[in-house]
Formats: sequence, structure tokens, C-alpha cells
Amino acid sequence: MLFLIYEGYSVLDENNFQLKKIKEEWERSLSILRAEIGEATFKSWFKNIQFGQYSDNILILNVPTRFMRDWIESHYLERILAILSKEVSDIKSITIEVASLDLTGKQEIQKQQDNKVGVSMKVSESLLDHNSIGAPLDERLSFENFVVGPSNELAYAAARRITERRNVSFNPLFLYGGVGLGKTHLLHAMALEINKNWPERKVLYLSAEKFMYQFIKALRFKDTMAFKQQFRSVDVLMIDDIQFIAGKDSTQEEFFHTFNTLIDHNHQVIISADRSPVDLDGIEERIRSRLGWGLVADIHPSDYELRLGVLQSKAESHLLENSDLTIPDNLLEFLAQRIDSNIRVLEGALNRVIAYSSFANRPLSIDMAKEVLKDLIRASQRKTTIDDIQRKVADYYNLRLSDLLSARRSRTIARPRQIAMYLSKILTTRSLPEIGRKFGGRDHTTVIHAVKKIEDLRVGDVAIDEEVEVLRRSLEN
Ligand code: ADP
Ligand code: MG
Repeated sequence: MLFLIYEGYSVLDENNFQLKKIKEEWERSLSILRAEIGEATFKSWFKNIQFGQYSDNILILNVPTRFMRDWIESHYLERILAILSKEVSDIKSITIEVASLDLTGKQEIQKQQDNKVGVSMKVSESLLDHNSIGAPLDERLSFENFVVGPSNELAYAAARRITERRNVSFNPLFLYGGVGLGKTHLLHAMALEINKNWPERKVLYLSAEKFMYQFIKALRFKDTMAFKQQFRSVDVLMIDDIQFIAGKDSTQEEFFHTFNTLIDHNHQVIISADRSPVDLDGIEERIRSRLGWGLVADIHPSDYELRLGVLQSKAESHLLENSDLTIPDNLLEFLAQRIDSNIRVLEGALNRVIAYSSFANRPLSIDMAKEVLKDLIRASQRKTTIDDIQRKVADYYNLRLSDLLSARRSRTIARPRQIAMYLSKILTTRSLPEIGRKFGGRDHTTVIHAVKKIEDLRVGDVAIDEEVEVLRRSLEN
């Protein structure tokens, strides 16, 4: 854990016993939180958070950007308060304040982008054709066409933020996630939006592969100066699939210099990869660590609602193209349920069924989808997720999903919750801490307790045993 010296810190009385205790408790809550949310997420949000002061039963924390403050407030504040108030009983609230500090703890000079590098920019501009080195943008990959859910909301919020203001609040933005989950879509959406909002800004989007290709070409034609100049004069550089340059040492070297130059001049850099910076094997340690300096946002595999949302939005565009088409709702639900590998595959599945229906001149239906998508559906069958279980159990007991995940302890909610935890244990391969996390950030001991409780009840209470069995069966097929 990196703790930085904040200016206000020195005015605090180190000998004050209570204060010391609170600071200790604060550090302890951070480690609890870290265990709960995982290393990568923790680093994104909490590596730069600092203890400010504690007075009038209010804890003041400092973070470097407003975006961080907003995100921590909406996603973690309640949890932090809950953890802290167990030990610090008189704490009333937590306030997060924005203090601009950079990683080295020095006061950061927030340069406004507006009057930056004006002259050199204009000179080089005429020499450049950014489109020739970048890749074309796909208008359909816009923010409007991007469906947001819990699995991608962080990446989406960060992407939006970058397109809303000129000054850079986190640099680089590093987006990562498995294949087909929307990384390229978000990069295009950002580039399109920046072009729209600030036509004068130079945005360059390209894959790491294309970057390497350009670089090698420049080497071959002994034209590396122009190459460097081209890349270093952009306002926003986006490199997609950076994992591609793993093991390619000279390309890495060149990338690193370009990257550093842009960041040093406060130009925005946005990178995507299929894994987190720390996991980028074959990429030099100093590059990996710099990639993680800004904001690291991961895109998780989608959940059912997101998949359904994507299908609905794609279905709408199909309907716009072909007004004779009728797409039954239950078909979309069926696809969202059965195809959970990634969104690209899901989209492909919908396209396939629609194409088939028009060839065969038959109306769309679930039966047809089963027939046409046999291979896909078989591959993604059997895997029950915690989300499925929670939804099913909530439905069965007529509860809202939010109640099931809430802290409420009333029996009518607590028992179904325990059943859902039990089913998660026996039907998925998730670990106890993972299950706890999925249930509103509970401790793994709570999950152990729930599993034990339901095991006991299944032996002693026929009614419960039957309910659990019905749920289990319906989830298994
Ligand atoms: P990645 O770059 O992560 O491999 P892509 O951005 O190419 O994935 O996404 C694959 C396909 O899925 C694209 O057609 C994209 O438009 C679509 N897609 C992914 N996520 C979403 C989303 N949240 N909403 C709408 N479409 C999405
Ligand atoms: Mg991609």
C-alpha cells in the first residue's frame, strides 16, 4: 500500500491516541476492502486515496480526481463506512475531497489543455495525414449503441469522462477484458465522440499490430523521425490490443518512448488489452508498471440483463433495416440465457437466426434458434452462474434481486439468500470469497455459515429440502 504525505497531514497531532487508532483502522479497512474487491479493482480506486483528517466524527479522505471521488462515493463509500464503524463506533460519516496530488506526492500542476503546444501542433499538422497511419472509425460503434451494465459500467464511465472534458484526469486509461466484450467498441465510441466535440483535436486510433507495422515500415525506409513526429503530435492516442507487442522488443521500445512523450505533455493515451497490465507477459516491467499508472478499468463477462439489452438494441437495428421482420421477445431471452460466451458471439447468433429465417422463409422462433445454433448452444449449456441462481431464487420466493443482495436480515429474505448461497456453492465452481462478494460483498464466513445451515435444514426439514431440490433442478438444465 502506498501512503502519501498529504499537506494537511502534518497538522494532525500524531500523539493523539484516537487519531492513531482511526488511522490504523482505516488501513485495516483498506485491506479488508482489498480482499473483497480484488487487487486490480482496488488499485484502480484506492492506491491514491489518502487519509485526510478525522474531526467531529467525520473522516475526510483525499483523492486526486473528481471522477475517483464520484466513483468511490457511489460504489464503495457505504461499504467502507460499514467496515470502519465496526471498530470506530463514533464515526458518523466519511467525506471524500479532491486534492490534486500526483503519484510522487508532489503538488500536481493541472495544465489546461486548451493552450497547449499550439504552435508546434499547427506546423506539423499540414505534414500529417492522420488517417493514413490510423485505422478508420466505425460509426456504428458509438456510445449510443453501447449497452451498459454492471460488467462494463466502470469502463464506460471512464470512457465517457474522457470525452466530456478537455483536461486529462487519468492518463493513460487502460481498458482490459476478454475477447468480444466491447473494448474496441468503446475505443471507437470515444474517438467518434471526441471528433464530434472537438473537431480540432487530433485523435489517432490504431491497433498495436498496425503500430508495429508502421514502425517497421519506417525503419525500412529510414524514416523513423517522421514516424515519431506523427505519433507524438496527436492529442489523443488510442492503441487497441496492446498485448500484441509482447515479445516484440524494438516495437515496445518505440511505443514506450511515444507513450512517455505523450503522457509528459499531458496528451491523452488510451490503451486496450485482453488482460491487466500486471499480467502482460512479454512486455517489459517498466512499461507494464507505467501502463497501470492512470486508471485501469476492466470489462467483466456480461450478465444476463446486459446480454438481453444488447440483443434488444441489435434487434431494433435489424427491424429498422427490415420492417417485415418479427422478432419474438422470448427468442431474445432464450439467446441471452443460452449464449453467454461473449457479445460478439451473441450478436453473430442473432444474425445467423435472422439470416436463416429469411432464407428459409420461416418465422423466427426458439425452436428454429435451437436448430440453427446447435453448436453454440451446446457449448454454453450447463454452466450455471451465480447471477442465474440469484435471479431464479429471487423469482421463486417473490423477492426483488436487490433485497436478496441487501443487508436485510429478516427471515423471509435471509433464508432465500442462504439457499442462493448454498446453490452457488454446489452448482458453480466459484470460491467462497467470490460467492460472498457476489452477495453484496459479504464475508466468506457468512457463506460457509449459509451452506452449513441449508445442509442441516435439508436433512431436518422436508419442505425446505424440496424447495431447494426444485430450484437445483430448474437451474441445472
Ligand atoms: P473486443 O474488442 O473486446 O474484443 P468488440 O468491441 O469488438 O470486443 O465487441 C464485439 C462485438 O460486440 C461488437 O460488434 C460490439 O459492437 C459488440 N458489443 C460489445 N459490447 C457491447 C455492448 N455493451 N453493447 C453493445 N454492443 C456491444
Ligand atoms: Mg477488439
